[in-house]
Amino acid sequence: MADAEIGVIGGSGFYSFLDDVTEITVDTPYGRPSDSLFLGEIAGRSVAFLPRHGRGHHLPPHGINYRANLWALRSVGVRQVLGPCAVGGLRPEFGPGTLLVPDQLVDRTKSRVQSYFDGVPRPDGSVPNVVHLTFADPYCPAGRQAALAAARGRDWEPVDGGTLVVIEGPRFSTRAESRWHAAQGWSVVGMTGHPEAVLARELSLCYTSLTLVTDLDAGTETGEGVSHEEVLKVFGENISRLREVLFDTVAALPASTERACLCTDAHQGWDLGIDLP
Ligand SMILES: [Zn+2]
Repeated sequence: MADAEIGVIGGSGFYSFLDDVTEITVDTPYGRPSDSLFLGEIAGRSVAFLPRHGRGHHLPPHGINYRANLWALRSVGVRQVLGPCAVGGLRPEFGPGTLLVPDQLVDRTKSRVQSYFDGVPRPDGSVPNVVHLTFADPYCPAGRQAALAAARGRDWEPVDGGTLVVIEGPRFSTRAESRWHAAQGWSVVGMTGHPEAVLARELSLCYTSLTLVTDLDAGTETGEGVSHEEVLKVFGENISRLREVLFDTVAALPASTERACLCTDAHQGWDLGIDLP
C-alpha cells in the first residue's frame, strides 16, 4: 500500500480546507495511531495528515501512541514527515507568533516508549535487535531548509535553528524549571516533539519540526504563567499562515526517491531484526 509520500502530524486545521480528502484507518504492530489518516494532495504531492491528539483533541501528549503514528505513516508510503507544534518561548525575543525551526532537541519526557528496538517480539514473531542509531542531528537538514524558505516566501521571518526541549506534561513548567531551561540556552519548550523525532529516525524517515510560539514560558514572562486558553488563542490566530507555510514546505520537499540527507542512511551497518513497512 503506497498512498502518500509526505506525512503531516498536526491538527485538523491543516487538512480541513483541502478538496478530496480520503480517510483511511491503519492498524500497526503497536496498535492504532491517534486517528485515521487523511489523504490529500498539495501541489501534486500526496500527503497523509494525522491528527496528533486525535480528532477532538482527546489524547494528552503522554497518551499519544507515537510508535503507531510513525509506523502507520511509513506503511502508507510516507518517507518525509513534517511535525508542526505549539511551544512556549524561553527567551523574551521569542514571543507569541514566532516561528522557530529547531535544529536541536532535548528530551525531558519521562514515561514514553521511545524505540522500536526494544527486544519485544512483534505479532508476526520477529524480534527487533538492539540498535543504537546516530541522533546527533535530530532533524532533516533538507526539510529544515524547505520550511525556512517557505516561511520567508510568506513574509514570516523564521528563527533558523535553536533547541526544542520536550517536557512530559500535561502540566506546564514551574517558573524554576522554565528558568533552568532558559539558562541552558534552550529556545522553546513543547510536549510532543519527542519521541516523534527519534521514532521517525528509527524508521529512516525525514522529520522536520516547525514550532509556533503561543506564549512566553513561565520563567520568561512576568504574569500568571501559561494558560491553555492563551495557547489556543494564539494558535488560532496563526493557523492559516502556518498552514500556508506547511503547504509551501510540502511543495518544496525533494521527491522521496531522491532524498540525499543523513536520515536515509540511519540504518547503515545495523541488522534491525524486523522488517519496516
Ligand atoms: Zn532527511
